[in-house]
Amino acid sequence: MTSEGIYLSTTIPYVNARAHLGHALELVQADVLARYHRQAGDQVRSQTGTDDNSLKNVLAAEAEGIPVAALVDRNASAFEALAQPLSLSFDDFIRTGSDPRHRPGVERLWRACAASGDLYRKRYEGLYCVGCEQFYRPAELPGGRCPEHGTRPEPVAEENWFFRLSRYAGQLHDLISSGRLRIEPAARRNEVLGFIAGGLEDFSASRSTARARGWGIPVPGDPGQVIYVWWDALGNYITAPGYGTGGGDYGRWWTGADRRIHLVGKGVLRFHAVYWPAILLSAGEPLPTDILVHDYLTIGGSKISKSGAVPGSQTADPVELVERYGTDAVRWWLLREVPRVGDADFTAARLVARANEDLANGVGNLVSRVVTLVHRYRQGRIPRPGESPATADGRALAAACDRAPERLAEALAAFDFRAATAAVWDVVGEANRYVEHTAPWLLARAERDGDPAAARLLDESLALLVGACSELAIRLAPFLPDLAGRIRAALDDSAGQLLAPEPVFPRLEAAAVGAVA
Ligand SMILES: [Zn+2]
Repeated sequence: MTSEGIYLSTTIPYVNARAHLGHALELVQADVLARYHRQAGDQVRSQTGTDDNSLKNVLAAEAEGIPVAALVDRNASAFEALAQPLSLSFDDFIRTGSDPRHRPGVERLWRACAASGDLYRKRYEGLYCVGCEQFYRPAELPGGRCPEHGTRPEPVAEENWFFRLSRYAGQLHDLISSGRLRIEPAARRNEVLGFIAGGLEDFSASRSTARARGWGIPVPGDPGQVIYVWWDALGNYITAPGYGTGGGDYGRWWTGADRRIHLVGKGVLRFHAVYWPAILLSAGEPLPTDILVHDYLTIGGSKISKSGAVPGSQTADPVELVERYGTDAVRWWLLREVPRVGDADFTAARLVARANEDLANGVGNLVSRVVTLVHRYRQGRIPRPGESPATADGRALAAACDRAPERLAEALAAFDFRAATAAVWDVVGEANRYVEHTAPWLLARAERDGDPAAARLLDESLALLVGACSELAIRLAPFLPDLAGRIRAALDDSAGQLLAPEPVFPRLEAAAVGAVA
């Protein structure tokens, strides 16, 4: 069944530094879902962007001694340019600092919450983490340090605007526990329900223009205050399709979409699953339908710092990794090795080993073998498949191909990329087993010796293998669009025969690993 509309977003990173592999993880996951749904015939709008108005950008620019706008423009451009090396297919990219759609939408969202009576002024003293751009209660700070940044939040006292989050606790609980607002994996949903059950306190919705260094969107009617990140950064999800600037896209892609899916990292779950839905409830706008949560990457055993740097010799720069190992290998590691729950540790050696095992030896070897066999025994012409396979091995391979789409759909519905790639990989495994069991080279020898049954079986085995490789090209396309394209090209017989065999995925050399060390 195809869908009327799927809206799909990543979080928008603040751009105080270049992108690291953790950003690539979320972008690639979102890209797989977008490509998968487009392939299924769904109408999809996928978007990403950058959080330009963050105070962290101001601090990074001060540290570099350059204007904030220059730093934001440079780093936001680098994020947007990830589309090429990572083969991303997002439909929209919003830069909250410069996109003319953004500010009017944020102001409208603010006014809508104010009109609901949910914004009020209050004097506040608290412990504030600049890195998180949020206040913490002392009980939330193990050893007095921010759980995200390990830094000591500084005491801040000021009067600013507050949002009546407390009003929405009951509604949020009902929406999330009923699954109308679905949070995957379940452990993350329970975490959010636990947070709500612990009591929701009103939160600060603005900061003084002085503390924001004059950067950001002023509170409508109160120029001494700047709108806080929740309306500004989270607001991108609706300002990009046109909330606030009109046009039909907001009705088409937010209010009218069947599913509004946010991909988020575990560190910002609370803001997406509690603050953001409450803001939307207050503004009278539809909520997201799905929040899909991923964990974090470590690199060579170390946490990726907020500046993107990693101690030791490993690089965390996705562009550098793609230059060394190629788009397919980087995407494949992110999709095949990162678990649904739990952090994953990246090393270049793991990436190379996985690419060589799966892509070079697994699917690459299979496609080369099949194309070579078709050339050797049928002059590059693909035999026509029979009605149904005559052998048990043939039926097992056909069944593996038939099974793949449903398993893939189930895995992706559960936001489980490892299970999804494993479902595709069963076809590779079954096809390689089939080659060994069927031994087309023995059938060819029997054919030469005048055995007509062997000739028929050879036709059937080559047709089945080409069919399995074609199926792989289709199923792999959302995950590895580049490799899938090369497999399609290798199986293209529109000129009457296949092209001469060429490796679709050459082995990565160990030297490439050494280059990193
Ligand atoms: Zn922090």
